[in-house]
Amino acid sequence: ETVNSKEYLDTIINDFQISLESKSIQIDKNIQIKQNINIDKFYFTTAILNILENSVKYGKENLKIIIKANYGKDFEVSISDNGIGIPKKELKFLFDKFYRVGNKEIHNVKGLGLGLYYTNQIVRAHHGTIEVISELNKGTTFTIKIPLQ
Ligand code: ATP
Ligand code: MG
Repeated sequence: ETVNSKEYLDTIINDFQISLESKSIQIDKNIQIKQNINIDKFYFTTAILNILENSVKYGKENLKIIIKANYGKDFEVSISDNGIGIPKKELKFLFDKFYRVGNKEIHNVKGLGLGLYYTNQIVRAHHGTIEVISELNKGTTFTIKIPLQ
C-alpha cells in the first residue's frame, strides 16, 4: 500500500501520544520528508509501535522519545529514547524469539520477548534492515531502513 510518509508517521505518533494519556513523556519528531512509501501499513505500524512501546516500558523518569525520518537511498525511521539502555553484549540477541535482557531493573516489567522479534520479521519482509545503538543508562536508538525499490 502506498502511503504518504509524513501523514503516515504523524498519525501513528499522534495516536500513540493519545494512548499515553497522562504519562509525562516528551515526544519530539523531525519528519521533513513528504514522499510516498510503499509498505504493508498494518504490519509496518506494528513494527513501529513495538519500538515506541519498548521506549515507554524501559524508560526512566522524564522520558523523552525522538522520532526522525529521512529519505535518501532508503526510507529511514529512527526512534531514540533516554531510557535504561541495553548492555553491549546483549545487543546481538535482541531480535531473537523470546529474548529479554536479564536486567534486574526490569524483572518486574512484563513481556514475552516477542516485540522485537516480530519487528525484525516485518522489516525483513519489506527487504529492510533494523539496527540498534544503545548505551547503558543513557538510552537506545533503533533505526529501520527500507529500500525504495
Ligand atoms: P514484548 O514486546 O513481547 O511484550 P519485551 O518488550 O520484553 O516483550 P522485546 O520488545 O522483544 O520484548 O524486547 C526485548 C528486550 O530488549 C526487552 O525485554 C528489553 O530488555 C530490551 N529492550 C527493548 N527495547 C528497549 C529499550 N528501548 N530500552 C531498553 N531496553 C530495551
Ligand atoms: Mg517489547
